[in-house]
Amino acid sequence: MNEFDFIESLRSQANSRRHSTRVLTGIGDDASIISEAAGRDLIVTTDLLIEGVDFHRGATPARLLGHKALAVSLSDIAAMGARPFWSFLAIGMSREEWKTNFKDEFYEGFFALADRYGVTLAGGDISETKDGIVIDSIILGEVASGAAVKRSGARPGDQIYVTGNLGGAAAGLKLIELGASVELGSPGAVFPSPAVRGWDDDAIQTLLLRQLQPQPRVGWGIVLGEQQLASAMIDLSDGLSSDLNHLCKESNVGATIDAAAIPLDDDVRHLCGRRALDPLALALHGGEDFELLFTVAPENVSRLPKKVDGVTISRVGEINNTSGVIRIREKNREWDLQAQGFEHFSRST
Ligand code: ADP
Ligand code: MG
Repeated sequence: MNEFDFIESLRSQANSRRHSTRVLTGIGDDASIISEAAGRDLIVTTDLLIEGVDFHRGATPARLLGHKALAVSLSDIAAMGARPFWSFLAIGMSREEWKTNFKDEFYEGFFALADRYGVTLAGGDISETKDGIVIDSIILGEVASGAAVKRSGARPGDQIYVTGNLGGAAAGLKLIELGASVELGSPGAVFPSPAVRGWDDDAIQTLLLRQLQPQPRVGWGIVLGEQQLASAMIDLSDGLSSDLNHLCKESNVGATIDAAAIPLDDDVRHLCGRRALDPLALALHGGEDFELLFTVAPENVSRLPKKVDGVTISRVGEINNTSGVIRIREKNREWDLQAQGFEHFSRST
């Protein structure tokens, strides 16, 4: 199959879904035409995924990579309080990879997640690389004009919340580094390397999927944006310590976090108990959980739903006016929380 045959197959897959009548011209012309809607702001995000840097090819089934490429961008749209509509995905791979069924499985994973949220593949690009896979995932979404939830809106007294549980994705990455791999199609079937043999297979499976198949909090993003509940929001891609720091800097505020309130993943507790690792450290500094971190003004707290799409939230702290300083409290100890999450080109490496 050549490039144009493959684009034609993507075109018919995208067109058969009919998620968006506003794509006037999608795949098949030099550019896509999308009809604008009055009274709404367009929200656009892009994410680059590079083999060997953002994912390990050997540990990442193609279907899960297709899911993740879309999921990371959906998470950014959710973090703006927006509703996702259209995806543009550019992908480069080697000639050898092109001949395998990688691309078909990749798009299976992509379309499965896109269908869940009614997202239309409206365009993209394909190129050959000398070596390795490169993916650029772009999503366009919308909010009511002026309703986007920015990082800069947090005010002293606002309560800090996170969706879901933290630390699972970082634990999953550690498992991958120890040689564990996920077996698709047979839930619970994992083939750990000797280093991890004997661990609870279900816990390992769950944590690997937390890393390889993150679930973007699209529903929460829409609710928090449309009902104007969040004063500021960011998604947890680099780690709570880093992402809260970004939010506080943009808002020119500080925060205090209550260690006991941080929702730790049960499987992470289990894993850490056996490895003498600190689950709190994974939850604070481990990245890629793709949960939402948001702040809520005191008068809006009672309007927060308990659950959206089955996902709960936890109140983890409060915003204060000590600009740029984040403190964490555990029993009767309190210390500065330094940003230690993931950073490309970080000064220390
Ligand atoms: P160009 O020379 O402008 O890059 P292409 O032949 O790559 O043209 O693209 C033709 C059409 O196919 C465009 O509508 C483009 O958006 C679409 N397309 C190309 N690659 C992909 C892809 N990976 N996914 C979705 N659409 C694609
Ligand atoms: Mg092209």
